[in-house]
Formats: sequence, structure tokens, C-alpha cells
Amino acid sequence: MINITLPDGSTRQVESGTSALDVAMSISEGLARNVLAAEVNGEVWDPQRQITADATLKLLTWKDDKGKNTMWHSSAHLLAEALEALFPGVKFWVGPPIENGFYYDVDFGDQVITDKDFSAIESKMIELAKQKNPFVRSEMTKSDAIAYFTEKDDEYKLDLLEGLEDGSITFYSQGNFTDLCRGPHMPHTGFVKAAKVMSIAGAYWKGDEKNKQLTRVYGITFPKKQELNAYLELLEQAKARDHRKLGKEMDLFHFSEKVGQGLPLWLPKGADLRMRLESFLKEAQRKAGYESVITPHIGNKELYMTSGHYVKYGEDSFQPINTPAEGEEYLLKPMNCPHHCEIFKARPRSYRDLPVRFAEFGTVYRYEQSGELHGLTRVRGFTQDDAHIFCTVDQVKEEVDKVIDLVLYIFRTLKFEDFIAQVSLRDPENPDKYIGKDENWDKAEQAIQEVANEKGLGTVVELGEAAFYGPKLDFMVRDAIGRKWQLGTVQIDYNLPERFELEYVGADNTKHRPVMIHRAPFGSMERFVAILIEHCAGKFPLWLAPEQVKILPISDRFNEYAESVSKVLENHDIRALVDKRSEKVGKKIRDAELEKIPYMLILGENEAKEGTVSVRKQGEGDVGGMSIEAFAGLIKTEIAEMLK
Ligand SMILES: [Zn+2]
Ligand SMILES: [Zn+2]
Repeated sequence: MINITLPDGSTRQVESGTSALDVAMSISEGLARNVLAAEVNGEVWDPQRQITADATLKLLTWKDDKGKNTMWHSSAHLLAEALEALFPGVKFWVGPPIENGFYYDVDFGDQVITDKDFSAIESKMIELAKQKNPFVRSEMTKSDAIAYFTEKDDEYKLDLLEGLEDGSITFYSQGNFTDLCRGPHMPHTGFVKAAKVMSIAGAYWKGDEKNKQLTRVYGITFPKKQELNAYLELLEQAKARDHRKLGKEMDLFHFSEKVGQGLPLWLPKGADLRMRLESFLKEAQRKAGYESVITPHIGNKELYMTSGHYVKYGEDSFQPINTPAEGEEYLLKPMNCPHHCEIFKARPRSYRDLPVRFAEFGTVYRYEQSGELHGLTRVRGFTQDDAHIFCTVDQVKEEVDKVIDLVLYIFRTLKFEDFIAQVSLRDPENPDKYIGKDENWDKAEQAIQEVANEKGLGTVVELGEAAFYGPKLDFMVRDAIGRKWQLGTVQIDYNLPERFELEYVGADNTKHRPVMIHRAPFGSMERFVAILIEHCAGKFPLWLAPEQVKILPISDRFNEYAESVSKVLENHDIRALVDKRSEKVGKKIRDAELEKIPYMLILGENEAKEGTVSVRKQGEGDVGGMSIEAFAGLIKTEIAEMLK
């Protein structure tokens, strides 16, 4: 008999050779019907595979990311089976799951696939799925496998085999399709109830442009038809909100091949918006006791050797900058932390000085593959709203508490209402993986959890997700169309203070090592602005909007009055522009709506005579007439309410 420990901590005694599916069956038949895969001692397995020793077991369904991945990877096999049926003689390279669905790289030989083939492929996939063909695992010796694919004249799988060790080679078959694969897969194809081929793209074999170009076929599958429809609907919405599209329409930022890939250029309106966000955070940080620091964009290679960042970002990242001095190398700054450590060391520190909080909007550079670049969300140069808090172990709780307050203030002000906090702690099974004293870890882990609970955050605790240098708390927000984004990190660090030999003199007059807390509520200005654009579909909150008011005279005769209104608003620090084009007012209103301007003021005969404005609100329509001063007051009150 062996012991199986389930996630709730309960243990079951079962015969050796029992599978995860058997265990699911013993719990309930309904559960067993939904099991896609099983996590056995932290590894994802086929659910039918026999467990032969004591193990921890988590049953994975569509609700678990790992379950979903298993279904999508299995669906790549199903896609391949459909393609083989429709395009005899095609050859396959690899077919992994991705964030949304999966792809398979295919050599179609002389045959051509176009988007006109998609629906036939989808129908074939569903036809094969309905057969509920099991995914059958078999092992083969390397020489037998080589013989099999030599016979099939499949250079791709032969290439894959080269990298595999004898004894580790497994095949999976479902229906008429057999593939070399490590697995795991779902029990049978019947889980797929809806399938969609999303797109095709050229992909060089092994990503090397000297190699042959294969066709990458992207697809996605779902266990319910409604889920596919909901997904397609979401895609439509996401497309309309895409920050790359809106950023262009709203004149916020630009990319130039000449400047370089992944290096955003902020246009005046975008720069304005970004600076407003920065001032907003600076002000909140000033109130919370942060001090501003400024550090250079490059640093001596030695600095990043000491910090350990060179190992992580150096070699595969940007090349060193050599100065005329022999052997001197500088690197583009990948992280601000090492610079801030040196600021801490700039003078002796006493326990009375702690905590110190150094904040910097620090621009860092990291090399990302060109294929990974995406608008403002993945770039090669970006500015973090970074800060480092140096404190004693006993101050960690209060500092984390304050950081959370700051993050919550930002979320509230920017209307991110749906979020959870994820706390990442040590893996209790691998205590040696972590640097720092156990008692310090215990204190910090307890502190983070307590604060999260006291704040009433919906907290998820992930064991084993902590970095080797300390526990952390991340905020995951859901945007207006339900997509999840990671925002706002608070990270405890025992490593850098050690590496930089940071010290303060304690009340006992001896030297102690401070704890370092990294935190960045926005993460990076670039990514945050992108998420914000997509969250609010370009309709920024009033306090942040590049243009808050558009003044629309109904004819040229009222341009002068419009200018005077604009002056008054300017004196109230309200950002307003006059639309002086000789267009009909209806057209002017439509354009201002499209530009997502929060307020419109319509000015004609009556308004000019009485010194009033006729107010329209974005998306809501007519608000009515009022004096200019009353309107300015309205705007100011609305902003004060948001920022309080
Ligand atoms: Zn597979
Ligand atoms: Zn840092």
C-alpha cells in the first residue's frame, strides 16, 4: 500500500499502481470525468499513469492552468491528426501549448494551406474529438524510434530524437496519429467540444532564418462551445482596446525602426500623461516618507557582478560598453537596486535612520528577442517606478503595510476594482534553496500574510513561489474585460544586503544587516500605461486625461468667446482646447467623443450673451448649462474626489 496526500492535507492509502484517475473516481465520478491531468509530487503526469510510491497528488481540471495546458498540448496532437488526414504526407516539428491555445509547426511540403482551409480543419478536429480516442503512451528504444522515423523519412522527428537519451523515449498515439512526445496528455480526445484555427504564420525551423520555413498553425480548443464564443467575443473587445491602436489614434507614443525595436518614443500627449502619473505617485510617495534619488543609466560591470545581475541579464543581454581605458566595461543598467545599495552605503547608517526609502523613476534596459516585443508591454528600455526600503527585520511588517496602502490608493484612483494579492512563500520541502536566516524568513512570511489579512485582501498563498532571496507579494488585477495582469510587487530581499555588505549600527552599538524591500506599484511606466489604456479603453479618468475639456463653438462667430472660456479654465489648471474648425457642431461632438475627451462645452448665442457654457459629458450626453466658474468648480470637485 502507498500513501497519497491530497492538497487539503488528507491522506489516502491505496494499492501501489493506482492512477490519479482511480483516486478521482474514488472521490466522485463527476470529478473523474473532468480530470485532464495530475500533478504528482509537483510533476504533471498523464492521469492514467500508475503511482507506485508515496506521493502528493493534485487532480488538474480545466480550471487549473496546468490542466488547461495539458488539454491544449493534447489538442496540438488532435490538430496534427486532422492535418495529416486532410494533407497527407505533412511533417511535424513541435506543438506546445501557449498562453491562449497552442500551435504546431508543420512542413506542408508542396501543399499549400490558407485561411480558407480553417473551417475544414476545425470540423475534422471535432469529428476526431467525438471518437473519444484515448491518448496511449508507449516506450520505445532509441534505435527502434530512429528506425521508425527513418522509414517515415521524417527529418524533424529524427532531429528531435538526437537530443534524447535512450530509455526516456515515449510515443503517444490517438486514433490514427502517433507522435514522439514526452507528454503528458489528457485521457482522450473527447474533452474537446470546440476548436478554432486562429491563424497561420511562417516560422523558421528552430527559429533560425538559415533553416527552412515551416508553417506555424495556431489553434485553441475548449471543453464547451459557449466558452469558445465568449473567447472570440473577448478577442473582439481586446482588439478595439489594443493599446497599440489607441496609442496611435490618441497620439500617445510611437516606435521608429530607425531608433530601434522595442524603444518607445513618447509623443507630447503621452509624455504629458506619463508625467502626470509620475507626479501623482511622487506626491503619494513624498507623503509616505520616500526620498528621491537619481542614478545613471549605465554602471560598471563589477557592480552587476557583485549584485548577481550580470549572471542573470549580462551575457545574453546587451553587450558591454568599452571605454578607452583598458579592461574597463560598463553595462546598460538592467536594475536600479545595485545603485540604490551603493547610495545606502554612501554614509554610515544607524538604527535611528531606518527605515530609509529611496525612490527613483529609473530607466532600465533589457534585451528581449524581437519576436517577444509587443507595443509598450514588452520593450527593451523602460522606466520602473522603483523604490528600495532598507529597514530592520522588525520593521518589515509596518513597511509592507505602508506599501500595500500605496498600491491600494493607486488602484482606487485608477479604477482597478477587481484584484487579488498573491503571497509567494518558501517551499517547505526545499529549505536549502533559500538564502538568509530561517528566523528572518519566518518573521517576514508571517508579516506579509498578517498584513494581507488585516487589509482584507483576497489572498492566495503559493508555496515554493518565493524567490531564493525572499518572500513576495504580487497584486493581480482583472481589467474591464476580465483579463488578468500582474501589477504591483513587494519583494523582501536578504540577498543584496549580504552581497553589498550593507550595515547599520544597532541600539546595541554593534553592526547589523538591514533587510531590503523592493517595490514598484506600477511595475514599469510603459507597461502600466499600456494596461491602463486597455483597461479604460482610452477613456482615462478625468484627472489623468491629456485633454479634459474640448470647447466647441457652434460657429466661427463664437471663437472669441470660446478662447475666453479656455483662458478661464486654464487659470483653474484645467486642460482645455478649442475646436475652431469650420465644421458642424454635430461633427465636432462626434470627433471629441472619438478622441475620448471627458467633457465638451458647446458655445453659441445664448452662452456668449450670458457668459455660460453648455456641458456635455463623454458617453453620457447633455448635463445642462452653467456659469464658467461653476463648471470649473464641478471639474475640480470631481478630481479631488478621485484623488483623495
Ligand atoms: Zn504531446
Ligand atoms: Zn530592486
